[in-house]
Amino acid sequence: MNELKSLTLPELTETLRAMGEPAFRGKQVFTWLHKGITSYDEMGNIPKDLRRKLEASYPLDVPRPVRKQVSRLDGTIKYLWELEDGNCIESVLMRYRHGNTVCISSQVGCRMGCAFCASTIAGKVRDLTPGEMLDQVIFTQLDSGEPVSNIVLMGIGEPLDNLDAVLRFLELVNHPDGLNIGMRHISLSTCGLVPGIFRLAELELQLTLSVSLHAPDSETRSRIMPVNRAYDVEELFAACHHYFQTTGRRISFEYALIGNVNDHDWQADLIAQKLRGMPGHVNLIPLNDVAESSFKPSGRLADFQKRLESHGLTATVRRSLGGDIDASCGQLRRKAMEEAQKGESSQ
Ligand code: SAH
Repeated sequence: MNELKSLTLPELTETLRAMGEPAFRGKQVFTWLHKGITSYDEMGNIPKDLRRKLEASYPLDVPRPVRKQVSRLDGTIKYLWELEDGNCIESVLMRYRHGNTVCISSQVGCRMGCAFCASTIAGKVRDLTPGEMLDQVIFTQLDSGEPVSNIVLMGIGEPLDNLDAVLRFLELVNHPDGLNIGMRHISLSTCGLVPGIFRLAELELQLTLSVSLHAPDSETRSRIMPVNRAYDVEELFAACHHYFQTTGRRISFEYALIGNVNDHDWQADLIAQKLRGMPGHVNLIPLNDVAESSFKPSGRLADFQKRLESHGLTATVRRSLGGDIDASCGQLRRKAMEEAQKGESSQ
């Protein structure tokens, strides 16, 4: 599974050295892999016998775009990729004035169980490898012909539940001989796995941490996010304060407004109270209606925003892209899974 592509440059150099190759080959092969070759024969400056050896030991598998939806409203492109083992994942290319952003998945499915989220309905199948995360960026770029300048780890899966692979992916995508995408252009979103936040804090990366808050009180949060029963929101706020104190970086809090669940004024007040001492930014998200969920979008978006702002907080409403193409993550994979099931049962 993209074994070579998951290796860092020193590791790849070492692997090739063990095959009897000179040290400079590492960088050459690394660069080719990160360009998105689909056959080793594309590596023009690599001797033919080494290409054969690599082909035999490390077959190149690349994700296949099994579905592609292009929004007529804003040009957002959503990909459903089939991986080498038949599993499917999603990535979304979003076009903003300041550049293109790709939203990638970190796992096949998710085990976090958030009640409003389509990605978690069928649980987690497996973690993605660093190479599979990298491929989403590379092949979105190649397929769309659009350069990607920003990455958000906000697709299917919980990045901090696959942190080793995610860190390796970050090192790869950041590398000057590869895609060379700066950490400041990368955001990572977590549902609140506290130990992972502490680990990230120690690394002091320049990326933007997003925390899916969705409720500032334990009772509501436990109701909509089971992770809150393992790591209570009080522990989460403490971890966020620690993160800010250690890294000096502002955290972005995601908050999908659900009618009559988390959209009360007292909850806005509580958010302000809990974020005191930290320059938090609250990103309000209009809830995407997921067919399987009974939660409904709130009509209090503007009021809630004003209430947060009255406490001096920065609160923005996320512009919704790809409204016509199921662009909220998990929905396309979910549709494809349902159709496959229907196909099987009708046979
Ligand atoms: N597991 C990570 C990243 C994936 S989800 C996390 O939880 O942060 C990306 C964002 O979409 C999260 O903030 C998630 O809570 C939010 N989300 C999931 N389903 C949604 C829905 N139906 N409407 C609005 N936002 C949703």
